[in-house]
Amino acid sequence: MSKFWSAVVHGLTPYIPGEQPKLNNLIKLNTNENPYGPSPKVIGALQAEAADTLRLYPDPNSDQLKAAIADFYEVEPVQVFVGNGSDEVLAHVFQALLKHEQPLLFPDITYSFYPVYCGLYGIEYKTIPLNDAFEIVVEDYKQPNGGIVFPNPNAPTGRLLSLAEIERLLKANTESVVVIDEAYIDFGGESAISLVDRYPQLLVTHTLSKARSLAGLRVGYAIGHIDLIDALNRVKDSFNSYPLDRFAIAGAVAAVNDKAYFEETRHKVIATRGNLVSRLESLGFEILPSGANFIFAKHAVRDGAELTAKLRERSIIVRHFKNPARVVPYMRITIGTDAQCDALVDALKDILA
Ligand SMILES: *Cc1c(COP(=O)(O)O)cnc(C)c1O
Repeated sequence: MSKFWSAVVHGLTPYIPGEQPKLNNLIKLNTNENPYGPSPKVIGALQAEAADTLRLYPDPNSDQLKAAIADFYEVEPVQVFVGNGSDEVLAHVFQALLKHEQPLLFPDITYSFYPVYCGLYGIEYKTIPLNDAFEIVVEDYKQPNGGIVFPNPNAPTGRLLSLAEIERLLKANTESVVVIDEAYIDFGGESAISLVDRYPQLLVTHTLSKARSLAGLRVGYAIGHIDLIDALNRVKDSFNSYPLDRFAIAGAVAAVNDKAYFEETRHKVIATRGNLVSRLESLGFEILPSGANFIFAKHAVRDGAELTAKLRERSIIVRHFKNPARVVPYMRITIGTDAQCDALVDALKDILA
């Protein structure tokens, strides 16, 4: 605390990211990174970018990347917004599109950055409880609101809402923006991007951090009606002209264009998830159905915090959340390689013995 701080800073409750330990040889299953490296084509593109041209500013509009994303999803480049990670994209979305008279709605158990953005931008919000099965219930969002946002699949539960349910929500909610944060959609869901041309209030956000193995490059994007994208561009151009540097643009273009690698790695993660779920179930874990590259698991009798601590002693880190009370028994476990998941299962067998 300092007398030099603005009132806004005094009032902030910052987001706490999952730990990035400095130790080597840890099995890191705590922040939903991809266990496979990025496409070799990304590495090649980054190496080619390490050149004299770094003295020049990058393209402020990242046009080449927008064109690649538009091509991949069969939308127009003007329907695409890009930013420094989807966290930055979301921050602009909150400020540009979700700050209104009525409260913003999001689930009580969800990505914990959402209330942080509300604090930063002074946005009123109301949380809507998930049901007892940790599902988002569309009916519960049929109330006056200044916007709706949730991840699909939801985090940290991994539960997926069908595209039909999302469309039902869009039909009922036409007067405010609906943001679907699809950070994990490529691990088992159907993207709502197919609906953006029919629903001008829909904005879908994606990240290259998870399914495209580029958490270290910081690239995210949003797709929606041109009027929504226009609002985001106005905020971005009032904040930072160059959110994506030359490496980010080149690497992201290569990642989006390498469809074969993307398909191969996401399917490997999906297969490992299925395998891990059945092995953990046989150890007495209850696991929510997951459409993501992580699972939310609780043991029949053992405590989530205790298991997390015991795994850590064995150099395996998973994520445990202390609130709300309903999630305390659970661990959120990122899907690693088959070998990492084998090590996790062995460690749990040992702990539970
Ligand atoms: C990981 C994650 C993000 C942030 O992704 P970045 O692009 O790395 O900033 C956004 N939303 C959810 C739900 C996430 O889990």
